[in-house]
Amino acid sequence: MRPIDIVGAGPAGSAAAITACDLGCPVRLYEKSALPRHKVCGEFLSPGARPVLEQLGVLAEAERLRPARISRVELHFGRSRKSWNLAEEAWGLSRYALDDILYRRALSAGAVHVREVWTAPAAAQDNRLILARGRSTHVQKGSRLFGFKAHFRGPVSDTVELYFPPGGYAGVCGVEGGITNVCGIASEKLLRKIDFDFDELLRRWPMLAERTRPLTRCWDWLSTGPLVFGEQFDAARNAYVAGDALGFIDPFTGSGIQGGLVTGRMAGLAAARNVPVAEHVRLCKQALGRQYAAAGIFRGAVRAGLADWLARFVPGRLLFYLTRPGGSIAA
Ligand SMILES: Cc1cc2nc3c(=O)[nH]c(=O)nc-3n(C[C@H](O)[C@H](O)[C@H](O)COP(=O)(O)OP(=O)(O)OC[C@H]3O[C@@H](n4cnc5c(N)ncnc54)[C@H](O)[C@@H]3O)c2cc1C
Repeated sequence: MRPIDIVGAGPAGSAAAITACDLGCPVRLYEKSALPRHKVCGEFLSPGARPVLEQLGVLAEAERLRPARISRVELHFGRSRKSWNLAEEAWGLSRYALDDILYRRALSAGAVHVREVWTAPAAAQDNRLILARGRSTHVQKGSRLFGFKAHFRGPVSDTVELYFPPGGYAGVCGVEGGITNVCGIASEKLLRKIDFDFDELLRRWPMLAERTRPLTRCWDWLSTGPLVFGEQFDAARNAYVAGDALGFIDPFTGSGIQGGLVTGRMAGLAAARNVPVAEHVRLCKQALGRQYAAAGIFRGAVRAGLADWLARFVPGRLLFYLTRPGGSIAA
């Protein structure tokens, strides 16, 4: 079998590596960072991620870490609030743990880690290529957005809470070990005013300040950016693209990891079976198109200050369903 080079050992790249290795392909997994590592992420794991973790052979190990069990969603818009019970329990699991489980499973399946920054080779290669290198940071115009996160100790909750103050939003979600993750995004304009001081940001967002008062931060804030939303499906590229490299879905959906696992697995299957790249792109569009469209509408409403109004008319479970991957996913 022709070897497969995979760029990125996040959820998408490791899922692709496990899948291709399990089908007997030699895999080189390019990852520039040492793993495990913390990553800016809300760490909300959609219920739909669990079947994929099972296919990848890591569900039992993830379960042994005792992820936080999330049964409820709350959206806060100023003084108004929308909440609902999830139809199926979600998990809160740190990226430190999740990415490590997937990466170690990829290595034990036979993938070889190449600790390098991958760059496109000048000449055409024999190897098939999977690009799972995360989101693009190329911002064309407009105000830039940055993400931030820290872990806190204190009382835990089974609810994932999203707060939408002016200039950004933030989520509060339990993870394993009785830790609470606080993660959000904010405009560069706002962050510059406060010199990228995220404690000050929470103070300026009174509902978040109130919510985090009983909590104690465990370590320094992490930040990332700029963030660029939307999909960039491109059949012309001579590579199987997966995860955020296909498109970055808004963090408020809490569905990016699931999308990465799903499309990573699809890329691993397609590369191992020599499926044309255009067909892989078509299947990814089918799986992810709806969630990008729904997230784009909600993003527009948040920017226009109409999210509260929109959320009043759309049932919570429908909103949740529309922002998850759908379509048929190859076995
Ligand atoms: C603020 C914020 C909050 C979020 N909250 C949630 C949430 O609660 N739930 C959820 O499901 N999703 C959330 N997401 C989205 C989620 O983090 C992503 O969808 C997910 O990480 C995508 O996985 P990936 O494998 O595609 O990319 P990544 O996890 O970004 O992995 C890409 C990997 O590629 C490596 N890499 C990149 N370029 C190269 C190179 N040239 N050579 C070698 N290695 C390379 C990087 O080091 C990285 O490890 C959030 C995102 C942000 C920014």
